[in-house]
Amino acid sequence: MSTDMYETNAWGKKSQETEFEKIKIQRNLAGDNDVSFDLQYCGICHSDIHFANNELGNTSYPIVPGHELAGVVTAVGSNVTGIKVGDRVGVGCIVDSCNKCSQCEKGEENFCEGGFTNAFNYPLVHGGLKTNTGYSFGGYCESMTVNKRYIVKIPDNYPMEAAGPIFCSGITMYSPLAHWKALPGGMNVGIIGIGGLGQMGVRLAKAMGNKVTAISTSPNKKADAMAIGADNFIVSKDADSMASGENSLDLILNTVSAPHELSHYLPLLRKDGTLVQLGLVTANHSVNQFPFLMKRINLSGSVIGGMPETQDCMDFCAKHGIIPATKLVKADQIGEVYKSLETKNDQIVRYVLDIKASL
Ligand SMILES: [Zn+2]
Ligand SMILES: [Zn+2]
Repeated sequence: MSTDMYETNAWGKKSQETEFEKIKIQRNLAGDNDVSFDLQYCGICHSDIHFANNELGNTSYPIVPGHELAGVVTAVGSNVTGIKVGDRVGVGCIVDSCNKCSQCEKGEENFCEGGFTNAFNYPLVHGGLKTNTGYSFGGYCESMTVNKRYIVKIPDNYPMEAAGPIFCSGITMYSPLAHWKALPGGMNVGIIGIGGLGQMGVRLAKAMGNKVTAISTSPNKKADAMAIGADNFIVSKDADSMASGENSLDLILNTVSAPHELSHYLPLLRKDGTLVQLGLVTANHSVNQFPFLMKRINLSGSVIGGMPETQDCMDFCAKHGIIPATKLVKADQIGEVYKSLETKNDQIVRYVLDIKASL
């Protein structure tokens, strides 16, 4: 092992065919600008599965997934201010970026012109962190080290096990709400898909002071959506229900990640309204441009958020008591959790790996 690295326990897959097992990985010791922390929890995100199973064909093994990390600081570099040993902190999808482009300068590292480094299975090209393999290892592990820039502070009153999902589904919804001026409220906001992302969107949009319409293919989601703050509910497969919402929404956040027909939702937009794509659909969309002309509507997309905004999202959730529902699991249950997530993609309860209980 090189002298600037340390070894830590992790849970990873050594190949596409094997199950998760306990492995050793190496990370860089905290340099002058870095923070190390011991993990307590890491959320299990559906996107972990795509990479663990090499579904995109670009997985490097061994892989240690996880981009919803939460833990307690164990070491800080000499240049680090505002974070001390013992602080509660977390890390999300971004673990490094170029630190010099105009987007990084603005704190929008999610749009880094050199490409941000994802929490796992990503080549370490920016030099801010190291591992023994040259690609990133995620949060199914005992310890993490990153540059201070990528650290989010978890407020004292916030449950640690629920913080990780804020760095993924929380910021994914918060950032477009803030960008399209649904913060500080007063807009009519629609949320398509009431799963993990959608339920965060409903809660955030409501807490910001907007009128919220939940939109789902399933009428069964109505009670849940209304319980977390939706003012209206539209069943997207019901023509009468869709007609009732025509020309009513300023902003629609679309969380659907399966192939779908965009044109179906455009009638819901008011003049100058915007539809924002958040779910990852790899197939091309086909849209009729007529409603774009007649209502001057916009189609856009968004991906997570920058680091300052992620901290804002964390603080907002703490202030408004927005706490994702979680279910703790141990490392030896990862296989069964993955199987359950593979069969049902829209679960509202987030499985969270209890690191201390798994060691
Ligand atoms: Zn995620
Ligand atoms: Zn950059």
